[in-house]
Amino acid sequence: MLSVHSSPLARLGGKEAGGMNVYIRELSRELGRRGLAVDVFTRAQDATTPPIVALDRGVRVISLRAGPAAPYDKNLLLDYLPEFINRVRCFAESEDLHYDVLHSHYWISGQVARALRQAWGAPIVHMFHTLGSMKNEVARSDDERETGGRIAIERDLLQSVDAVTAATPLDRAQMVWHYGADAARIRVIPAGVDLQRFQPRDRDAARAALGLPAAPHRLVVLVGRIEPLKGIDALIEASAQLLAARPALRGHYTALVVGGEPEDATERWNAEQRRLGALRDALGLGDAVVFAGARTHEELPLYYAAADIVTMPSHYESFGMAALEGLASGRPVVATDAGGPAFIVEDGISGLLTPPAAPDRLAGQLGRILDDDALAALLAAGARQRARRFGWPTIGCEIMQVYRDVLHGARPAVAV
Ligand code: UDP
Repeated sequence: MLSVHSSPLARLGGKEAGGMNVYIRELSRELGRRGLAVDVFTRAQDATTPPIVALDRGVRVISLRAGPAAPYDKNLLLDYLPEFINRVRCFAESEDLHYDVLHSHYWISGQVARALRQAWGAPIVHMFHTLGSMKNEVARSDDERETGGRIAIERDLLQSVDAVTAATPLDRAQMVWHYGADAARIRVIPAGVDLQRFQPRDRDAARAALGLPAAPHRLVVLVGRIEPLKGIDALIEASAQLLAARPALRGHYTALVVGGEPEDATERWNAEQRRLGALRDALGLGDAVVFAGARTHEELPLYYAAADIVTMPSHYESFGMAALEGLASGRPVVATDAGGPAFIVEDGISGLLTPPAAPDRLAGQLGRILDDDALAALLAAGARQRARRFGWPTIGCEIMQVYRDVLHGARPAVAV
């Protein structure tokens, strides 16, 4: 596994570490359980992480020094790739290892995979996780725009790797539309969810354990990194509209954002969180929108369980693992129909969909569930049912089939 810029050991919910880290960690563990030996190569971002960490049976994370031992702008990381590639090769030689398959994640690691394939001849399975062209399509400022270099590398990778996995049929279609990719080389394999960790639990007990207000207080939970793409501003504006239309809810409603930094650490808030805090204050939402700060994956099940609704109002998600975790936790999910969530959430069955950047529509969908306990119960049951398709054992099995195909030189068949 190659994941240069982001380690599966990273603290989740910060600026850079999120779905991709969880994906690589959980997929690797699943492959380990299936008897594969997996080494995850990543760039060391601090001086304290040991160079080799055993993640699970058969799975190691190898952190290699290449460039500064600190977080680094991913667009500038390209300068350090030759060093990184050499270190991977040296490591393999020193342990006398021969890898059968290279599985690269994100455009930067795709470059590493190509160099290693040249040296070793092993086939490449690549996953983009996000596409630069899609990010540019929804970017609202130059800061959010991805470089032309990234787009060019993504286009090259689509032509040169042995197989690509897309998280959803739409993800695959976007590779075809925006990059002219050959759809036959792209297999749709969604991300997974840990169905044991994330399962329906008692709401009252979860709230008591977290010190959150008991029912009938209403709680809407959003789990995610705090960045403009996540559309957290839409949730804040929707909350204002919900409360304006339902004065009785005032003082009995909280939108809880899990990710970023907590309320008492404003000095560490990034620009987006400061912007969101100012919006909340300007709308007079005081206690109705609360930033909980990032939580570990182990802590999250209680947050989902505490929720009446889990929401993902993103402008763009190639997948949206937090939406899937909400479903697995048996909570109705209200998500935007921008990308992955439209594939994960079946509108009216396991949750409700809403267009991105449309707070009035989001408020409408949240309100429908908050006003109608029967609908909430129906969606909650449908949510868990939907999540069952995405257990890691199923996903691991599908990925191993791609490995077999590239090893035997077969073009992966197109499956949706
Ligand atoms: N996450 C977490 N703690 C946090 C915030 C997020 O563990 O405080 C996890 C979340 O559970 C999910 C992942 O980070 O597994 C986010 O993935 P998603 O696909 O929702 O968003 P991405 O980070 O890929 O944009």
